[in-house]
Amino acid sequence: MSPGKDEDSSLGEIGERKIIREIFLKNIPSSAAFDVGPGDDAAVLRPVRGKTVVTTDMLVEDVHFDLTYFPADLVGEKSILVNLSDIAAMGARPLAAFVGIGLPEGAGTSFVRQFARGMKRALRRYGVSLGGGDTVRAEKFVIAVTLIGVLKGPPVNRSGARMGDQIYLSGIPGLSHLGLSLLRDGCSRKKASRTEKKAFDRHLRPEVDIELGCFIRERKVATAMIDTSDGIFADLGHMLRASKAGATIDLSEVPVSAGLKKAALRFGYEWEDAALFGGEDYHLLFTASPKKVGILSGWTGKSRIHRIGSIDRKRGIYLQRKGRTVKLPGRAKPFFNHFAVREIKDH
Ligand code: ADP
Ligand code: MG
Repeated sequence: MSPGKDEDSSLGEIGERKIIREIFLKNIPSSAAFDVGPGDDAAVLRPVRGKTVVTTDMLVEDVHFDLTYFPADLVGEKSILVNLSDIAAMGARPLAAFVGIGLPEGAGTSFVRQFARGMKRALRRYGVSLGGGDTVRAEKFVIAVTLIGVLKGPPVNRSGARMGDQIYLSGIPGLSHLGLSLLRDGCSRKKASRTEKKAFDRHLRPEVDIELGCFIRERKVATAMIDTSDGIFADLGHMLRASKAGATIDLSEVPVSAGLKKAALRFGYEWEDAALFGGEDYHLLFTASPKKVGILSGWTGKSRIHRIGSIDRKRGIYLQRKGRTVKLPGRAKPFFNHFAVREIKDH
């Protein structure tokens, strides 16, 4: 499905300048981070104390989302949230955003307005200034966001995990994948169970805990950190390769609810498939020495932190499950068979 043309003008009729001026640059949440904000040839960032962190992430229609189930304003929100997640995973604070947008021929102004509204909502909520962007015609709806953050001190890299560290996760994994299944199946949020509602929300508007990322970095808790955009298995894999280490995940420690187990079965997969291989939860996954447990227990913020395993070998990911330990295959190949038959287009 392509972005719906609405009762008012098509984009071609109102023209690029007007789209930028009247949709993207109207009521912008803030340009406090800039000496020269959007509207000029380039933005001029105000000097900041600390290091500058830069990340970029793209969302492409029909690859990352499908407009039949993804409302335009939530695409706008998510385009910012996925970038905020990378900033959080460095232990940084977000400062400013730039947005490149490709709009298909048929997109109408109300669609673009909705998209921009969601984007600005996320920027406002996380205190991020909009610095500018680019707006072009494209075959599909495409959004490329660049986010700039600040870091006062050393970042938390992926490469520091050490033998004996514990592995922690900041939330319940697999919910976003379940949300995607529900959305694709045309399920209505109104009729959903509590778990299913959480799953819809996790997929459509993931919570990003910037404060937790900063707490972990400032208190020097973690040896390595990553956000779970590709799923625990894939992202832990990235971290382990960077750290030249191996790990065991204890499945009995991975948080799950009865509701999630039940809901997953409805789609023919076990909850553990979704928990390990499902993407787009955007939690923080980090490793820490057992000595840091005391500091971690002092975390009183929003996300719940769970220990899910340990760095206990030189390579590979092992799974401890019902008293048995099995090695998961080296590449990001789904381990559980049911999962293989369901196409996942999470990323
Ligand atoms: P130029 O042709 O000089 O690159 P543009 O017409 O692309 O200028 O953009 C004009 C101004 O509007 C620039 O400051 C740019 O950063 C800003 N801009 C363009 N598109 C967007 C957008 N989608 N959101 C925010 N700012 C935008
Ligand atoms: Mg331009």
